[in-house]
Amino acid sequence: MLKIRKTKIIATLGPSSSTNEMIKTFIDLGVDAFRLNFSHGKYDDYTNLISTIHSIKKDMPIMADLKGAEIRTIVKNPNGITLQKNKETELIFNGEEVTDNNFSVSYDKIFQISKRNNHIMSDDGNIDFIIKDIKSDRLIITPTKDGILKDRKGTHFIGIDVPFPILTQNDKKDIEFAISQDVDFIAASMIKSEKEIYAIRGLLPEKIKLVAKIEHPHALSNIDKIIDASDMILVARGDLGVELPITEVPTAQKLIVKASQKFGKPVIIATQLLDSMMNSPRPTRAEVSDIANAVFDRVDALMLTGESAAGKYPAEAINCLCETVDNAEKTIDYTKYKDRTQINKNDASDAISYAAVDTAYSLKAKAIICFTSSGSTALRAAKFRPAIPIISISQNEDVVRQLSIAFGTVPIKSDIYSNTDEMIDNAKNIIIKEGIGEKGDIFIITAGFPVGIAGNTNMMKVITID
Ligand code: PGA
Ligand code: MN
Repeated sequence: MLKIRKTKIIATLGPSSSTNEMIKTFIDLGVDAFRLNFSHGKYDDYTNLISTIHSIKKDMPIMADLKGAEIRTIVKNPNGITLQKNKETELIFNGEEVTDNNFSVSYDKIFQISKRNNHIMSDDGNIDFIIKDIKSDRLIITPTKDGILKDRKGTHFIGIDVPFPILTQNDKKDIEFAISQDVDFIAASMIKSEKEIYAIRGLLPEKIKLVAKIEHPHALSNIDKIIDASDMILVARGDLGVELPITEVPTAQKLIVKASQKFGKPVIIATQLLDSMMNSPRPTRAEVSDIANAVFDRVDALMLTGESAAGKYPAEAINCLCETVDNAEKTIDYTKYKDRTQINKNDASDAISYAAVDTAYSLKAKAIICFTSSGSTALRAAKFRPAIPIISISQNEDVVRQLSIAFGTVPIKSDIYSNTDEMIDNAKNIIIKEGIGEKGDIFIITAGFPVGIAGNTNMMKVITID
């Protein structure tokens, strides 16, 4: 029986993991895709990194993560400024005039809309200021605790609706670069509504999949529309835990996962999965428990951020993530989820995908084989979270790479086929060649005809290997 990890693993690359050896180690340990975070680093570095990755594994999927509308600190001293609880400091408007004792931020319009007594949070919430006074050229602020504020730390003006443009100039440049690098996914940061998704979509070739990062509370009230407009969803708990009270993040995570699954769109959980492994070779019990719970919620993928990019134990973190996922998956009876999944009314594609999973269980089929030109036939089978693998076969290499981070899928490139007979021959050849099955094994095929029309699953067939 083909043994696969159903929950996929994504690793962010960074200073701790950009060497040939570490990239190879990550791939050997079972990483399914790499994420490059455009908030750090230069285009030249990314060009080199992408070619290194592809020289190690030609078809390794890459996700480019846009900066999005973010505000970062401007601090002069490379060691940061030391903050003392309740001791006033100044946030000045003009970044050029920053000294060793004050700081500025990268978005100057923020000063017109700041309000007295509001909080400013920086560095993932480790730094928290209260605005005490607003002067013509500066904010007088006091830290609520001791700390060191460093340069380029993400900064949030809590409770203020910052009037960012739908798409920043920076993002436009990043998108252009990402397209030139032929990345598989673009992750869009700080999405608040479907409008940003449409704006980015307008700039992308159809083959690049768009991932909406949910990290702002406004996105939660527009979640269905955002999911509908996106190809995938990413629960970005880092910023979400600053913009929302941190104790509300678990509920928000559940809500986003449920909504994504209702739409049959892949959902990824990210950030601080193994945060303690930034500095320690062993995680906390709570961290592995959080990972296992995401597996029990049947998310599509788990993504390491700082742990794999800038931590001291990147390979150990990947290994720990994979083992925790494997141990959790072993205990799950996936067959019960078929009947807990909503089938869209009057949707023949959904009905056929359900029937395929149901038939597979009755006939003890080895796998469901989805012939898919856009990926949608495979994602529809994945929606029912089947206990057996989803072998997703596509003539389209982009789709093969993109499906590698969808739940339970084993994507494989196929030869050209134009009718059902050729398709079935193709399936049988792949099953034998890849060692997926042997004589007498039963497989369920789903597909859409005519070939090449996206989003149309209209055929199911039972085959036995002869
Ligand atoms: P970032 O997103 O690493 O781009 O900030 C992840 C998060 O906010 O959780
Ligand atoms: Mn973020």
